[in-house]
Amino acid sequence: MAEMPAIDFLDWVYPPICALCGCGLSQGKALCESCSGDMPRIAVPFCDVCGEHFLGQIDGAFECPNCNGLSFHFEFARAAMDRSDGISELIHRLKYGREIHLAGDLGRLACGAFSSDRRLGVALEERWPLVPVPLHRLRQMDRQFNQAEEISRAIALETSLPVLSMLKRVRRTETQTRLSRRQRLENLKGAFAIRKRWGMKKTVAPRGVILVDDVFTTGSTVNECAKVLRKAGVGRVAVLTVMRG
Ligand SMILES: [Zn+2]
Ligand SMILES: [Zn+2]
Repeated sequence: MAEMPAIDFLDWVYPPICALCGCGLSQGKALCESCSGDMPRIAVPFCDVCGEHFLGQIDGAFECPNCNGLSFHFEFARAAMDRSDGISELIHRLKYGREIHLAGDLGRLACGAFSSDRRLGVALEERWPLVPVPLHRLRQMDRQFNQAEEISRAIALETSLPVLSMLKRVRRTETQTRLSRRQRLENLKGAFAIRKRWGMKKTVAPRGVILVDDVFTTGSTVNECAKVLRKAGVGRVAVLTVMRG
């Protein structure tokens, strides 16, 4: 029988090839420069509320037709990237394939939004903590990690912002994919709560936080989280996600 080649433990944890194109890589990264450079980063113009990217020329602030007339508990949401096959695949592999090492590059990509959005620039200057959208305890047990928390940690490494797990998910909810916006809002009512120590009067809530999730679709999840945070005394809530769904 042929002898098995020795496998370096770190190479097994972080395979030294690009997660998308398979080319060779230096350790500690999951994407090569070319795949990372090809990611569809969202830059101006985008909707001031939901971050939806618009092609073409728009001068000054604007709201997209979807946000017109809606009110949210967060001030604004920014996704670092538009939906693309590559970025959807990475998020899917992180969540369902347990490729936790992908969170590092996804977090680094998310950080691009800080330099392309002055409002996030201010949040960075004022050191607003990163608050991951929580998973239900049972789902987290099943998945063994929370992707929003892993992405938050990666963002924290780049920005040195603190990560505060202020929220918990108290109710398991139906999967949202086939629901309308109205049904999503209904489905999520009462799904989140503030963690005990943040609910106590002597713990001062931060004046601003950056709520972090992997994907922003209709905004109903982050809106429900923002509602709970605001109720606990957080002054301002911004939302940062890796991708616009
Ligand atoms: Zn590549
Ligand atoms: Zn919008």
